[in-house]
Amino acid sequence: MKNDLDNLQLKTIITEKEIQKRIKEIATALTDKFQKKSLVAVCVLKGSFIFFSDLIRQIDCDMTCEFIGLSSYQNHHQSSGEVKMTLDLNTAIEGKHVLLVEDIIDTGLTMNYLQEILQPRKPKSITTVTLLHKPDAKKVDCKIDQVGFKIPNDFVVGYGLDYQNYYRHLPYIARVENLN
Ligand code: 5GP
Repeated sequence: MKNDLDNLQLKTIITEKEIQKRIKEIATALTDKFQKKSLVAVCVLKGSFIFFSDLIRQIDCDMTCEFIGLSSYQNHHQSSGEVKMTLDLNTAIEGKHVLLVEDIIDTGLTMNYLQEILQPRKPKSITTVTLLHKPDAKKVDCKIDQVGFKIPNDFVVGYGLDYQNYYRHLPYIARVENLN
């Protein structure tokens, strides 16, 4: 396994400083939106755990945190096209303002699936935020309210995003140069 990783070439495309600056801007907009409201912030596991942690600490409003687990990548770096729930929310969201925090929107299937399963639970509102968005990879429409960075249709790792579960800890986003 490690030999595989040794051969991967990574090229930083978004630095730690750029990520942190953008998070402050997004958090300011969300603080304005949810001022005097109570919010359920939902971390979409696994990829968004770092973005989620940095983002929620900059949002100033009443907030509870929830976690939902979804998986769509079975083939290491290609979407299987099938989204599965691996962990459900712990509490009801009926009548609540919900903030869905995603790491990346690629085909849109995951975000679309999330909205379809959460909408019937009758939240008061659903706001969606993603750190990264690959507009060229879109297969289905989904509502995206806040985007950190639009990126080309390349496979990226770091800041929560993995390749075979590695690289999540990198504080920056890097493109993998030599995947086939
Ligand atoms: P979608 O359902 O929009 O195609 O993909 C969403 C999920 O696929 C993300 O939450 C993420 O886990 C994974 N994904 C999509 N693109 C990438 C990528 O470039 N790198 C990594 N590591 N995961 C990705």
